[in-house]
Amino acid sequence: MNAFLLLGSNMGDRIAMLHEARVLLSAQAGVVVKQSGYYESEPWGFESATWFINQALHIETPLTPEQLLHTIQHIEQQLGRIRATPSGGYTSRPIDIDILFYGNDVIHTPALTVPHPLLHQRRFALLPLCDIAPAYVHPLLHKTTTALLQQCPDQGRATRFIASAGERR
Ligand code: ADP
Ligand code: MG
Repeated sequence: MNAFLLLGSNMGDRIAMLHEARVLLSAQAGVVVKQSGYYESEPWGFESATWFINQALHIETPLTPEQLLHTIQHIEQQLGRIRATPSGGYTSRPIDIDILFYGNDVIHTPALTVPHPLLHQRRFALLPLCDIAPAYVHPLLHKTTTALLQQCPDQGRATRFIASAGERR
């Protein structure tokens, strides 16, 4: 199945984190068909000194949505994610991996909502997604990712990030 993921990191060597996540995803979740550029965005919903770097991935996965969720959570743990308190809220994290789309499936379970419910409200998710899937139609909103980006009211800053010479790309 074609699935689209959003990676985000705002701790440590952010570019290296995304690189490691791609390596683990290729080993555990399926083939990485396409990867977007990197985008740097200001933290959304909480205060933090360090901005996020986000990247969208298109993967071809043999896993079911539940298996894919478990796998990305396992990878988050492998990369040292300290999970938020049970009360929720946003925290800094070395890596966050979200499922944006799983084919055209619409999923509403306690553990999983797909398409990701905030995708169309977040420039930092739509920008990288449009890099790799500009004509993909959102299965609930019936608009392309490009149209969703054009009409997105999010004022948060998010711009293309060029990794410096020393950083892994
Ligand atoms: P957030 O991504 O909102 O910053 P977390 O990564 O800690 O926070 O995710 C919290 C929970 O969101 C996870 O335990 C997972 O079960 C749930 N979840 C629901 N829908 C999705 C999705 N589409 N992708 C990833 N996680 C999801
Ligand atoms: Mg997440």
